[in-house]
Amino acid sequence: MALKQNLLGKQAKDSSTLKGKRMANLYYDNSADLALIQGKKVAIIGYGSQGHAHALNLRDSGVSVRVGLQPGSASASKAQKEGLTVNTPAEAAAWADVIMILAPDTKQPKLYRDSIAPHLAAGKTLMFAHGFNIRFGSIKPPVSVDVSMIAPKAPGHRVREVFTEGGGTPALLAVEQDASGKANALALSYAKGLGCTRAGVLETTFTEETETDLFGEQAVLCGGVSELIKAGFETLVDAGYQPEVAYFECLHELKLIVDLIYRGGLSYMRYSVSDTAEQGDYSAGPRIITQKTREEMRKILSEIRDGSFAKKWIEENEKGCPNFLATRLREQTHPVEQLGPKLRAMMPFLQPVVAPGLATKAAASEK
Ligand code: NAP
Ligand code: MG
Repeated sequence: MALKQNLLGKQAKDSSTLKGKRMANLYYDNSADLALIQGKKVAIIGYGSQGHAHALNLRDSGVSVRVGLQPGSASASKAQKEGLTVNTPAEAAAWADVIMILAPDTKQPKLYRDSIAPHLAAGKTLMFAHGFNIRFGSIKPPVSVDVSMIAPKAPGHRVREVFTEGGGTPALLAVEQDASGKANALALSYAKGLGCTRAGVLETTFTEETETDLFGEQAVLCGGVSELIKAGFETLVDAGYQPEVAYFECLHELKLIVDLIYRGGLSYMRYSVSDTAEQGDYSAGPRIITQKTREEMRKILSEIRDGSFAKKWIEENEKGCPNFLATRLREQTHPVEQLGPKLRAMMPFLQPVVAPGLATKAAASEK
């Protein structure tokens, strides 16, 4: 039986508690048996950010892998250059014991209906790296198959890079259906092939992963941070300060602050900044994130949980994303986005990149 390790670092068969809160189960290399996944045929459907990392890491871990891509796929030649066998999604699903779906979430329901569902049979395992389609019912696998998730908590390119350096990225593991009684052990074995048990694999559910992931990106990581940057930048520029100064203050320096938080938490960031900055943190922070903001966060969470966010997003995709694409264009014309590329180009050591779409607009605005 695999031993679970909780966050206190003690070996325990059951999760323990810390101040009344249930602690997460964490698995490391010694809990996972690589031979289980080495004994299976694994289809990786999609060869994008996550797909290439899963296919290559598993292959390097001695697993039999094929990649499933639609005919004419732009990714096919990349996979073939790595010596991987590329099939259509349907052929790969028919061949495989384990089918990991790594196409974009919005493309998955049709892909599943057309190419995967017809090839699912008892004993096969369907895997995901995000729970969206299972949580919101847009994919409903038959009860005879195992359904599990290994969701690396890192962009796919890091999952590959860190693995080749001998390290690993943490991941979440969840089992939605356990027809075989072995779904957990096989998912852990998959995670080991991916290198994730080197860093820690945390047990969760499809529901918890999906809801917290959507909430995190909406309230904090993407939505929260983007609006905070824009609002701070606009406040300074509107008050007559130089946009370049506002850019460094409200965008560039964020990375330096986040790096400190990442390594040592809020306390280490506060230790590293001046006492005046620390005082400003305590006095101004709660005036920015107010009770009203927290109420709105709870509303955002409840719209995720009751499925209304998912419903709207699925409908938007069915219409070809008109509002989403219009918003993307509008956001790319924000002054902080027009100024940023020019300043970053002066700092080549940042290895600046220009987002597709922005390059064309920046060039046009210079004419
Ligand atoms: P992505 O990079 O956008 O995936 C693109 C790949 O999917 C391309 O190879 C594309 O092929 C292929 N594809 C598109 N439609 C397809 C179809 N109908 N059939 C087969 N292949 C198709 O996706 P991703 O960001 O890796 O996300 C994959 C999954 O991982 C999602 O569930 C996501 O939530 C999850 N996830 C992602 C990350 C991340 O780092 N991005 C992190 C954690 C979890 P073409 O070249 O032919 O277009
Ligand atoms: Mg996330």
